[in-house]
Amino acid sequence: MKIDQLLKERGSSLSFEFFSPKDERGEETLFSTIQMLVHYSPSFVSVTYGAGGGTSKNTTYVVERIIQETSLNTMPHITCINQSRESLEAILYGYKALGVDNIMALRGDPPLDQDGHPIMPKSRYYARDLVRLIRPLGGYSIGVAVYPEGHMDTPNLEEDILLTKEKIDAGADFGITQMFFDNNFFYAFMERARRVGVNIPIIAAIMPIGDIARMRAFCQRCGASLPDAYVKRFGDNASKADALEIGIELACKQVEDLMHNGIRNFHFYTLNRGEAVARIIENLGLQKLGITQ
Ligand code: FAD
Repeated sequence: MKIDQLLKERGSSLSFEFFSPKDERGEETLFSTIQMLVHYSPSFVSVTYGAGGGTSKNTTYVVERIIQETSLNTMPHITCINQSRESLEAILYGYKALGVDNIMALRGDPPLDQDGHPIMPKSRYYARDLVRLIRPLGGYSIGVAVYPEGHMDTPNLEEDILLTKEKIDAGADFGITQMFFDNNFFYAFMERARRVGVNIPIIAAIMPIGDIARMRAFCQRCGASLPDAYVKRFGDNASKADALEIGIELACKQVEDLMHNGIRNFHFYTLNRGEAVARIIENLGLQKLGITQ
């Protein structure tokens, strides 16, 4: 089912993001996580795409397997940074044949060398261009990424929201946020979006933290900020079990505050693990946001 239609009809949603695994062990982990989370009747699930083609085949394979083995509404991500128009079209026609209704359209990031420098010239293509390519190809509902703290390559928040608006005006039907931990970034983003006339649904994406050191590195790479209070709450020596509990507690508080402020669409970054996400859903009774009551 098309996500924009689903969001319009229900006014709420619960969804999960998975990444395409690199090997058989990762695939086993992913599919046992899917088995656990299918129980919550998500409105949709999404599967990420390795920029530069790294795991693009895996994405198609995983999407196909999810569709064959479950009844989940499955949305592949596609990035355009290092791909020809022909290869993008071939992938999109392949998804149509599989019955896919939704595509997450992204620019992606250039692959980096050992020192962290991009190994290809700055892209001339943006997600906006990919949205324009997908739009006439036949009936996909199109999602795009939005950044509550602004994208890290954009000089300021005003420019960020105008470029985001341009990408949406190219034909996007809904947005999914980058992870954020301070809800004030999200509320301020929604205010900026409203001000420039963005009126598509924006889905708040939640990242339950399991490992604070790993999360700090991840945040640095994608330009999201990690509140000091979070770092303090984990402390220096939280065991793995304690860290899981703290991550669940913080994510529950974050979602509670969002719900209190009227937000009803939640996307969880699962990192292919189900326990934290399942516990957050149970604690907050979020299953009501999915497809079934
Ligand atoms: P764009 O919207 O194209 O923006 C990229 C940058 O270019 C921004 O700084 C923007 O302001 C600037 N820009 C846009 N248009 C113009 C213009 N006309 N002129 C000048 N500057 C412009 N990455 C993956 O590799 N695979 C995934 O599956 C994946 N999934 C993601 C899912 C979500 C929900 C999010 C938030 C991110 C995801 N990413 C993924 C990361 C994403 O690819 C990176 O953040 C990437 O740097 C930007 O992608 P974008 O689609 O937001 O790009």
